[in-house]
Amino acid sequence: MITIPDFIRVKFVNLLKSKRFNGCYLFCGVTPEIKFEVVKYFTQALNCLTPTEFLPCGVCANCQNIENNNYYGLVQINEEGESVKIEDILDLKKSVMKGSYQGFAVVYIHKAHLITISAANSLLKILEETPEGIIFVLDAANPYLLLSTIRSRSQVLNLGTVVTSIPEIELWPEITVDKFLNFIENNKIQDIIKCLEDSKIDKIESKTFLQAFCSWLFDAYLENRNSVNIKIIRIINKYIKIAERPVNITNNMLLLIMEVKETLKYA
Ligand SMILES: [Zn+2]
Repeated sequence: MITIPDFIRVKFVNLLKSKRFNGCYLFCGVTPEIKFEVVKYFTQALNCLTPTEFLPCGVCANCQNIENNNYYGLVQINEEGESVKIEDILDLKKSVMKGSYQGFAVVYIHKAHLITISAANSLLKILEETPEGIIFVLDAANPYLLLSTIRSRSQVLNLGTVVTSIPEIELWPEITVDKFLNFIENNKIQDIIKCLEDSKIDKIESKTFLQAFCSWLFDAYLENRNSVNIKIIRIINKYIKIAERPVNITNNMLLLIMEVKETLKYA
């Protein structure tokens, strides 16, 4: 069993004390392995029958059922981590959103950044008027991997900096920051094109991809204070703006890569 770190308990106590819940939270900063444990703990804290100073007892019927993944009010989406489809979101309307619960229902979306555009739009409609008693928790390694419209409806709950290997972050399925930088360094332009084509990145997604890349570079900059990263962030920002216009995405990405390469050459 995983022990929930104290600083996370303190965050929950403050949240529960305030009783002012947001309809949607982004849990950031913890590794995926403990993220679901934290979500279970959060669900317990919300539904415990005999809490002590806002913290769950761990032994009441609700706490036990949540611990054993046997609780009607904790719904998981995209457990396999492949993609969040429109059917997943529509199913919610038939199930959890129809129920009238005593406590709080928590809908946890694994790897929420792998959501399809139609599912994201459907989710957005729900988030615009989240029914009382339902709390969404989205798992995204990086908030910038989510559509900005979903991000703006969510409250980021930074659970500390437990993330250890930022380069493992997936910018897009099959493309990690690590892989991307490796391609650039080793001049494997054809591999990048193939990756982009295989991922079938469309306009909106390419923008999300660039934002994620930018955000990752910014984190790296904060750590190393490397001026090259800032230069690259500026270049990417330029291409994010270009991505808003009707342009060929693959060409656009290639131009971006060339420009990034040039910058790295003189670093
Ligand atoms: Zn309990």
